[in-house]
Amino acid sequence: MKVVQPSRSPAAQGNLTPLKCSYCDQERHSVDRCYFLHGFPVGHKLHGKNVKPPNRRKSAAHNTQASPVEST
Ligand SMILES: [Zn+2]
Repeated sequence: MKVVQPSRSPAAQGNLTPLKCSYCDQERHSVDRCYFLHGFPVGHKLHGKNVKPPNRRKSAAHNTQASPVEST
């Protein structure tokens, strides 16, 4: 009996390109599948909610800028 052991080499995945989302900057999915961009699937706890990925929250800060007292 031969027992084939799985290779533990980092290159075992061959030509599979590692998925990384260019929108939320998270891995294991591409921007085409990004839940933050396309919405969370039914059954997901964030379904129906407009959730911004963590790396996008800061960039929207200038939207609600409360300017201090302006001198007139
Ligand atoms: Zn994403």
